[in-house]
Amino acid sequence: MKTIRDIETLRVVIESYKKERQIIGFVPTMGYLHEGHMALVNVANEENDIVVMSIFVNPTQFGPNEDFESYPRDEARDTALAEQNGVDILFLPSVETMYPENLTATIHAQKRVSVLDGATREGHFDGVLIVLAKLFHLVQPDSAYFGQKDAQQVAVVQGFVADYFLPLTIRVIPTVREQDGLAKSSRNVYLTEQEREEAPVIHAALRKAREEVKERDTARVLANIRVAMDQKKTHEKIVYLDMYQYPSFEPVEDWEKPIIIAICVQYSKARLIDNEIIGGA
Ligand code: AMP
Repeated sequence: MKTIRDIETLRVVIESYKKERQIIGFVPTMGYLHEGHMALVNVANEENDIVVMSIFVNPTQFGPNEDFESYPRDEARDTALAEQNGVDILFLPSVETMYPENLTATIHAQKRVSVLDGATREGHFDGVLIVLAKLFHLVQPDSAYFGQKDAQQVAVVQGFVADYFLPLTIRVIPTVREQDGLAKSSRNVYLTEQEREEAPVIHAALRKAREEVKERDTARVLANIRVAMDQKKTHEKIVYLDMYQYPSFEPVEDWEKPIIIAICVQYSKARLIDNEIIGGA
């Protein structure tokens, strides 16, 4: 595995792969790697000649009162894990490398972002698209790999890629979970012991709701999730809980088309999200 920190070296390496007509799979991450990230790497390895992973905690996708500074980081551990899991190129740029100057022009997400993380994290998806535009141009992947855990991110990125005819395929990988159902997340390390014990209720409540969707009553489905969450006194920690058509994030009107139930829970230090997508491919 090659570790690269600067743009010039990355360009030279990518150029040589392109000349050899190697197929490139790209896994963008913020590091503190876990099995969720590795699931993306595994599929990327099956589908490509070369796997590029980036680890970059992107400041433009964090709001002023969010956890950019305290986001967990462990470069040595991540490097070892990436290598063990078959990453070929690990791109580890600094903030100065990715943002040498204030941007001359920006990217503003305007569809699929009026709800959930788009509404509660102002500018978050703009930052995601800005950094991905940079990374996609540098890495020139044939495919890029994203987790369904961040389903709104997937929808926004897919829209962006389609709008701008970007020449790559977005591949979506199912959420990897702990044995008790909690979605794996870099932020799980910030759960207290008590919170870690409570947190599986998020997935359990969503799973139960999956059955109730058949009754086609949005208010009831959501109310029952709150009741289920309250068994672990997690109700008051819900930042958002809602149902939409997927991937449009419009109100539910057509129960035959894919529907997402998405939730965000704020624990003392960790903000966790999860979702279930019902119907569709
Ligand atoms: P992050 O480092 O949290 O920005 O995540 C990098 C990529 O890994 C994103 O596409 C995430 O959706 C994906 N990812 C994070 N957690 C999981 C998980 N538990 N299962 C599957 N994919 C995940």
